[in-house]
Formats: sequence, structure tokens, C-alpha cells
Amino acid sequence: MTFAELQLHPSILKAIEACGYVNPTPIQEQAIPMAMAGHDLIATAQTGTGKTAAFVLPALQRLNTPSNGVGRGPRMLILTPTRELANQITDSIRNYGKFMRVKSCAILGGMPYREQLRLLSQPVDIVIATPGRLIDHLDNRRIDLGRLEILILDEADRMLDMGFTEDVDKIAAASPDNRQTLMFTATMDNAMARIAQRLLTNPQRITVAGKKATLDNIEQRLHVADDLRHKNRLLQHFVTDISLTKAIIFSATKRDADFLAQGLYEQGHKVAALHGDMNQGARNRTIADMRRGKVRLLVATDVAARGLDVTGISHVINFDLPRFAEDYVHRIGRTGRAGASGIAISFASINDQNYLDKIERFIGQTLPQHVIPGLEPTRGLRPKGAAAKGPRRGAPTATRKNSAAPLPRRTDSRPGSSLPNAKSNIKRWGSPKPANSVAVEYRGSGASRPNRRVV
Ligand code: AMP
Repeated sequence: MTFAELQLHPSILKAIEACGYVNPTPIQEQAIPMAMAGHDLIATAQTGTGKTAAFVLPALQRLNTPSNGVGRGPRMLILTPTRELANQITDSIRNYGKFMRVKSCAILGGMPYREQLRLLSQPVDIVIATPGRLIDHLDNRRIDLGRLEILILDEADRMLDMGFTEDVDKIAAASPDNRQTLMFTATMDNAMARIAQRLLTNPQRITVAGKKATLDNIEQRLHVADDLRHKNRLLQHFVTDISLTKAIIFSATKRDADFLAQGLYEQGHKVAALHGDMNQGARNRTIADMRRGKVRLLVATDVAARGLDVTGISHVINFDLPRFAEDYVHRIGRTGRAGASGIAISFASINDQNYLDKIERFIGQTLPQHVIPGLEPTRGLRPKGAAAKGPRRGAPTATRKNSAAPLPRRTDSRPGSSLPNAKSNIKRWGSPKPANSVAVEYRGSGASRPNRRVV
């Protein structure tokens, strides 16, 4: 199928051509005609499948017909869980709508009110918003949803996970009953089905590429780590590998992201942290720096796991396993974008066994275990279903020689339990900073920020 067969407006076709897209992706092929026919829609699709265009293009198409509503409120509203995702959708609207007159604005938490009030005081076609800030404006009657034609819920499952259910309900209640609602979600469970039942009318359903299929171009590897020090040594190995062109390293907490980034910075890497404690300006600059290649290693919390679309990410490293299995899929989906191949490396210690089991059940496969010569774990993970004291899975025999100098172990069992909790962890990495290698500002938050620029 071609985009022309989707009967999109010539100005949209021209913009798609300018983006270099040749054919619609499967989600676009299915969702665009249904949305253009006016149906409500539940689409189960992961990021990386082209789902943004699947809802933006029908919205733009609709803007080619005049509004019947009164007022200056938006005709389309796109709700999305994170600011990063909202910014990417805003960019997509700009790209796909560049040959049309489209007025869009992003209403996001963490951004100054003054500018948002200015934007909302003018007529607007499309608003892209995170639910919390939009509710704020709605409560204060600064936005009128009375002429809304299409409500789009992007990453609806994530909004649910983040506790936005009530906000989304409230926003839907403030929009006209005859609106069209398009819901995009990576996963579909009972909670999602209930939301869909409340907010959608006779929805059509689309599911594209199961989880497994979308991960086919990503090589997944598991490295068993004894403890934090071992994880750090494994990380050292990968970040000094020249085949790693750009990587996102996921940590469990914001603080850990800062500590890890600081440690890598001190070793001379082009690194930045990305997490929710940073203000939006710093987050945007960091992502822009990564796109431009000024940042090679991004140490992030799950705030960056969804939607972040930076081309050329060769590796995703789960320094800590995610707590929720579906986040694993979102994290590793940052590599292997748009048909490229990628490598996803996960570190797991014995305390992470339960999280690992959940991930493997979710993706329907066992992560192949890899060992770096000289960095073998001294203990394997226990086999599935075995008691904690039972025989260990896959403890490589060659590693016994390493056990002569056992490393200290922490005992708490949350994922990422063996995380940096003190600067001493970082100091142990030890390699001196190359004199001239750092060309970016370390950007993080809080007290651990080195607060300097090395050029
Ligand atoms: P998304 O799933 O919306 O985050 O899109 C993932 C990536 O696919 C983005 O970089 C898009 O620019 C790209 N993309 C979207 N649609 C197409 C298409 N039809 N052909 C090629 N690339 C596309």
C-alpha cells in the first residue's frame, strides 16, 4: 500500500514524502483509514511502529475541513504521559503539517505558565498535553474543550500506570460526547479495557506486531553480575567498546542516574543524565545533545524509556532491571529503531531473579546469558522455580577462580539493589580522566552535579 492510496490530503502527502517515508507502516495502514472514517479506535502498538503518524495524519486530514464548533479551544487533543513524548509528537505535527496551516501547542507540566496562558488565549487546532497540567488549566477555565473533535490517548497504558486515570476521565468528561476517541496503548489488560469501555464508543480494534516480532532486530543479552562493583566493571567494558556508538543506560532511580553519569563523566565519557528531577529545558537540551552526537551515553530513568526517538542508538544497557516487565520492552525499543539493528544488554544479580522471570514471561523468551572473559560472575542465577537455596542456573565453572576474592554483597531485594549509594562506588571505577576527551557539559540534578564544563 502507498500513502496516496490512503487518500490523504496532497499537502500531507507532500510532507510525508519530504520525511522520506515510502510506504505506510502496518499500524498506519490499518489505523489511518479507520480513523479517517470517523471510528473510535483501540490500537495496540509499541513505540517504534510509526504509531505517532497513525494518529497525527488523520488529525491533520480532519483539519482540512472547517470546524462546526464555536470558540477557540482545540479541535484535537493528544494526551500523552511524558513531556518527552509530547515534544516528539509536537515535532511530528510540525513535520507532517508543514505544508498546511496548523496551529498546535504543547501544554506540559514543568513549563512556565505565562507562555501557556498566552498560547491558550489564542485559537488553536491541536493541543498536545500531559494530563496533570491540562487539568490545571481546565479547572481554572483557561481551556475550553467544547469544540473538540478528536481525543487521542497516546500510551494510554502508561498514563494509567502513572496514576492519570482520574485526570483522563475528567478531561474526557469535559469534551463533547460526539467526539472521536483514538486510544493507543502498548499493552491491553483489564484496567485498559475498563477505561476503553468508559471513554470509547463501538471502537474498532487493531493490534500490530506482537511484542516478540518488534524485538526481532534487537539482540538481547543477559549478563549476570555478582554485585555493584561487578556491574560497574561490566559497564566499563561496554562503554569503552568502540562498536557502541550511542547508548542509553537505564538506572532504577534519579539519584543513581546522577551518580552513574557523574562517574562516567569523571572517566572522560560524553555523558548526560536524564530524569524527572531535571527541569524541562535541561531535559530538552540533553536529548538535543544526544541527537547531535554531543552526548554518547545517556544515563536515564524510565522517564526516557517511552517514546524517546533518537536515531543511531546502538546499545541499551539495563544497569538495573526495570520493575515492570513492559518497561523492559519500552526501554530496549530505544535501539533498533526504524529497521536498524540494536543490542540490549541487561545486568541482573541474584536479587533480580523475580524481575527477570517476569520479563522473560512477558517477552516469551529466555534472555541468552553472555559472559565477558575475565568478568565472569562467581554465582549463577537460580533455575526457574527452584528455592532460593537450590542449585544456581548457569554459574560458569571458569569463574571459580574469581571467587578467591569475594566482593561485598548488599542484601535488599528491590531491582537495582546493588546501586551506587555513595560516591565511593564511583571512585572505585578508578580510571583517570583522559586529558582532552570531554566535550560536553555534565547535566544532571541536585548536589552531585559537578557544576562545570570541561572542553
Ligand atoms: P513512532 O513509533 O511513531 O515513534 O515512530 C518511530 C519512527 O518511525 C520515527 O522515527 C518515525 O519518523 C519513523 N516512521 C514513522 N512512519 C514511517 C514510515 N511510514 N516509513 C518510515 N519511517 C517511519
